[in-house]
Formats: sequence, structure tokens, C-alpha cells
Amino acid sequence: MEFPEYKKNIVVLGGGFGGLQAALRLGKFIRRAGLGGKYSVVLVDKHPRHIFTPLLYEVATTSEASLPAGKRNTIAHELEPLVAYPLKELLESSGVEFHLDEVRRLDILEGVAHLKTGKLDYEYLVIALGSETNYFDIPGLAAHGLPLKTFEDALAIRERLDPRVGENKGLTRVVIGGAGSTGVELAGEIREWSCARPYTKTCNIHVTLVESGHNILGAMDARVQAKATARLKKLRVQIFTEERVVRVDTREIHLKSGEHILHDIFIWTGGVRAVPLTEELPMKREGKGRIEITSGMECLPIGEDLRVAGNIYAVGDIACLYDPETKQPSPWMARPAMMGARCAAKNIIERIKFAEGISRAIKTHTYRVPDYPYIVPVGGKYAVAKIGPFVISGFLAWVFKGIVELNYFLSIMPWWRALSVWLRGFLLFIKNDRMG
Ligand SMILES: Cc1cc2nc3c(=O)[nH]c(=O)nc-3n(C[C@H](O)[C@H](O)[C@H](O)COP(=O)(O)OP(=O)(O)OC[C@H]3O[C@@H](n4cnc5c(N)ncnc54)[C@H](O)[C@@H]3O)c2cc1C
Repeated sequence: MEFPEYKKNIVVLGGGFGGLQAALRLGKFIRRAGLGGKYSVVLVDKHPRHIFTPLLYEVATTSEASLPAGKRNTIAHELEPLVAYPLKELLESSGVEFHLDEVRRLDILEGVAHLKTGKLDYEYLVIALGSETNYFDIPGLAAHGLPLKTFEDALAIRERLDPRVGENKGLTRVVIGGAGSTGVELAGEIREWSCARPYTKTCNIHVTLVESGHNILGAMDARVQAKATARLKKLRVQIFTEERVVRVDTREIHLKSGEHILHDIFIWTGGVRAVPLTEELPMKREGKGRIEITSGMECLPIGEDLRVAGNIYAVGDIACLYDPETKQPSPWMARPAMMGARCAAKNIIERIKFAEGISRAIKTHTYRVPDYPYIVPVGGKYAVAKIGPFVISGFLAWVFKGIVELNYFLSIMPWWRALSVWLRGFLLFIKNDRMG
């Protein structure tokens, strides 16, 4: 793709939760301000689709039986549009150009992003390249642990699980390493799914959750942890806490305590780290590779405008802010990524307005680590949600999860498409879900 040299590029790297929000806001501003002749907003991603990760656990646990008979051998094809949305379509008429390419290196002194197929100059840059599965160099983990980070990962888990569920299939031992929200969601849903099939009288899938921390859902509210633990126990998920995985073989997981657990399927959801591209950046990084936003450039208090150098902003899983009160790092979650992206986009817009003489001063928008609401589905039509100081659980929280999902779709798609994607997903995934 050729980019006109006379235009200034506002480049967003990564089309995930953070990058997409930033690009949509920047595109809207440039269009409305009539600056399209001077600025291009370009979003670069190495994948053609935006992945809605909160539904990947559903993809991993959807049986062919949920589909009409004629569509069963095309299940991947049926599931894909429910969680993976083409970026090109999402950006249609948004004023944002989508460029399918891989970012290889960033030269922040020259203001150039080096891509697989060439170079891209930028005037403003938003880095939103996200994270990848962290195997912590544990022997055998990458070879034997199935990750859950992409649509393809979810399909791979589904393909291993689906044929094993049912009567007369023998016992299958599923072990999940890591009891963050992904591990908990998956553990609950696998049990619920495999034990709730109409033709299954006995449940032949045994699920074990292994967590190195003191509790499951480590960074979450203690009430959420307690409710999720109780729910998992009700679903007969075996939980090991304070047990660190130190080695994984084809059939066994070895723990630091000397215990070992037999597995037929091992799923690793025990950690992520920033994409390796950050390693070459001349910026401060924390232990998991995230760019630390510790000092704003213009003497702003810590991390306030999300700028990490010059006109460069970092948002989402690739960036790390610390809560000024608790000193805890920001969580690896979609909401902070989106909120950070909106803040970075606003700050870029302020700078452009100033540069273009639309405003006389740059108003800095600050980002404060808020008390994020969150929802953890734990098998079937049951979830635990924390909204402000309140914790709700059960069917109501599950309904709330559906509303939050629809709300997200409405923020990135036209309403009729959002409604259609949401409804189709709802009708398909609900077939695996029974009332808690
Ligand atoms: C299974 C699962 C379930 C989750 N559920 C929830 C949930 O319920 N609620 C919640 O808040 N959070 C959830 N999360 C976490 C959430 O998905 C992340 O925190 C969020 O995606 C971070 O957004 P981001 O924009 O930083 O990165 P991402 O959304 O990961 O986007 C990064 C983008 O960058 C692209 N990219 C990476 N490297 C390159 C490169 N070199 N060149 C070009 N493009 C590149 C990727 O293709 C990707 O599109 C879940 C995560 C997983 C894996």
C-alpha cells in the first residue's frame, strides 16, 4: 500500500481493543474537522480480524451438536463471524485506512515504523500491539500446553475436547494451568458443557485448575473470588492453589511441591507478556515487557497522558500504569485498553487542533486508573460481576454480561450488524448453557 507523502500519518499499531478504539476516534475527528486532505489515520495489524476475546471460551466449548445438522462440518466457519470481525469492514466509512502488515521494528528517533513489506512514517503514533502467552521458560509448557489467546487457539481446544465428551468415551482429564479469569471461565464452562449435554448421563470430563497464587482470580475482589470458588466447587472442578507448574510432559504436570497430575489435555492460561517488539524500544519496561508509563513528558504527574515519548502513546496490554494508591500495575483487560485508547486519542486530537490553529492551547486529558467493573462467567448461565462496590452473581450477572457485550459491539459496528452478531452468538452459545 502506498501512503501519500504530502499527508501526515497518524498511525495506530494493533487492531485489538485499544487500537480499534483509538483509530475510530481519530478517524472520526479528522473527518469531522475536514482535515482529511492533510492527515491520514492508518491502522496496522498483522491479522485481518478484530478478536472478541471474552467469547473465546465459548468457541472452545461449543459442540457440533449445537448447530443444525447440515452445518455441523462447517463449525469453524459458523463460529468465526461471532468472535472475529474483519477490520476492513469495521473501519468502512470511518476515515481510517486498514493496512494488513506486521510491525517488525520501531525507529522512534526517525519516526518510522518498519513493517514486513516496507516503512511507514508517522507524525503521531499509538502503540497498541497487546500481549502474547507467557510460558515463563517452564520446560515442556509451550510444547504440551494449549494456549487460549486467538480464535485458532479456541478451535484447537474445541477440536481436542469435543470428540472426548460423552458416554462410553472413558475418562478425560483436563488440566488448566492458571486461574485468572480465562482459566476460571474455561474450567467452569468445560464442566457445564460436557456434563449438560442432553445425551450425557454421566460426565466423563474431569477438570483440574492449578494456580500458583493464594487464590483463584488473584487480582479481583475477595467476594468475587469466594463466589467463583464456590461455583467451581459446585461444578466439581478440582482446584489447587499455591501450586506452581515446574515441568510438563506428554501425560504429566509436575508441580513445585513435588506433586504431579496426570492429564489428557493441558490448557495453559497462566500468564501473558507484552509482545517482544517492546524489547528494542528505548523505554522503561517492567518484568513482563510492558512499557512503563512512569513519567509524562511535559512534567505531568505519573502516566497522566499515556505518552511515552515525543508524539508516541502506548495503550492496552503493552503499557503498564500503576495505581497511585494501591501501587498495583494496571490489569491486562479490555476495558483499561479501551479507556486508555480513548484518552490517547483525545490527547492526539488536542495536539492536532493546536497545530492546525483550531485551538490556542493544548488541553491535556489525563488517564486515571479507575475501579474497573468486571464480569467472570463461571459455567452456563452464571456469572460473578463487580460493579462499583457491589458484587452480583448468578443469572442476573450473566444477563449483565450479555448487555455489556452488546454495548461493545454497538461501539464498533453499525447497530443492525451489532445486533445480528450478538443475537447469533447468544442463540448458538446458549445451547451449551443451562441455568446455574
Ligand atoms: C481468552 C481471553 C479472554 C479474555 N476475556 C476478557 C474479558 O472477559 N474481559 C476483559 O476485560 N478482558 C479480557 N481479556 C483480556 C483482553 O483481551 C486484553 O486485555 C485486551 O485484548 C488488550 O487489548 P490490546 O488492544 O492491548 O491488545 P489486543 O486486543 O491483543 O490487540 C493487539 C493487536 O495487535 C496485533 N499485533 C500484535 N503484534 C503485531 C505486530 N507485530 N504487527 C502487527 N500487528 C500486531 C494483534 O494481531 C492484535 O490484533 C481476555 C483475554 C483472553 C486471551
